[in-house]
Amino acid sequence: MNNKPVLTIVIPCYNEEEVFQDTAKQLTDMLHVLMDDNLISYDSSLLFVDDGSHDRTWDLIESESLVNPFVKGLKLAHNAGHQNALLAGLTVASEHSSCVISIDADLQDDINAIRTFVEKYHEGYDIVYGVRDSRETDTFFKRTTAEGFYWVMRKLGIQLIPNHADFRLMSKRALDELLKYKETNLFLRGIIPLLGFPSTKVMYDRKKRLAGESKYPLKKMLAFAFDGITSFSIAPIRFVTSLGFISVLLSILVGIYAFIQKQMGHTSTGWTSLILSIWFLGGIELIAIGLVGEYIGKIFKEVKRRPRFSIETNLYSKRDKKKRLIHSGNHGRG
Ligand code: UDP
Ligand code: MG
Repeated sequence: MNNKPVLTIVIPCYNEEEVFQDTAKQLTDMLHVLMDDNLISYDSSLLFVDDGSHDRTWDLIESESLVNPFVKGLKLAHNAGHQNALLAGLTVASEHSSCVISIDADLQDDINAIRTFVEKYHEGYDIVYGVRDSRETDTFFKRTTAEGFYWVMRKLGIQLIPNHADFRLMSKRALDELLKYKETNLFLRGIIPLLGFPSTKVMYDRKKRLAGESKYPLKKMLAFAFDGITSFSIAPIRFVTSLGFISVLLSILVGIYAFIQKQMGHTSTGWTSLILSIWFLGGIELIAIGLVGEYIGKIFKEVKRRPRFSIETNLYSKRDKKKRLIHSGNHGRG
């Protein structure tokens, strides 16, 4: 194998001073093994993204990079949040990598799966999702909220890979496609399955955090879930419209009921017209809000400026043609 892929492992870190050294050591060892086994190039590296930490995380990254040639660092000016930190790392890594793997700093995800990821890449997969086998190490609360989240997302028609967080490999071309999605609220887990490209899953056991505490408290988790829903779906708007129609329908039923009550003389003056107006107008208002919402939904989809297609193979390009020839001959990439 002459052209071995350059792998960059992107690790977002927010106040991770307790785990950094351990993580850097374990991942460096992993890189060494993969390099020695000719799976990746010696230009491969670890890219630590400091997401505006308040502790010594950046100092540690910086000093490690002086003694460890495989460690690179990126410091964000302020805390941009996990997804944005990850995206920053991916953007920088895409410039000089053939593939990238993203993993959390606390190494809850099994780093031994990295080897399988790279092997899958060699088999020709562009996206390899790390999927956790069990959620036993999570608290009951985290487990049920996560399950609820996947359920709601599925109901709203958003394709997520269940039990997959942000531990995954992406090839350069898949990453380049991802970076064409310019929307500000980028919900990576929802967009990546939209990209297409040959993809596969690798199962692993998720462990406990190395040290420190979760940087995803309930508030951040809820914000994340809400963000995921609202940046992908206008279903909540549709819900308002249907509520409006239901209300108008009910107003007809209430109308019949009120009419009967009136005929039987059970009503006081003014009640019938009042109750009817409330139900009917309420329904009309909800429908109107829903309609305005439909247009806002259209604007919402428009301003995201998502790419309308992504090309996987183009036989006009010599590179793709060559790759096809290699693939039909042997099943390796490198
Ligand atoms: N993280 C980050 N910015 C934040 C919050 C978290 O970069 O604002 C990083 C954090 O350092 C870790 C990863 O995102 O590498 C996942 O966070 P954590 O392990 O705390 O989440 P959990 O595993 O509890 O969901
Ligand atoms: Mg974690």
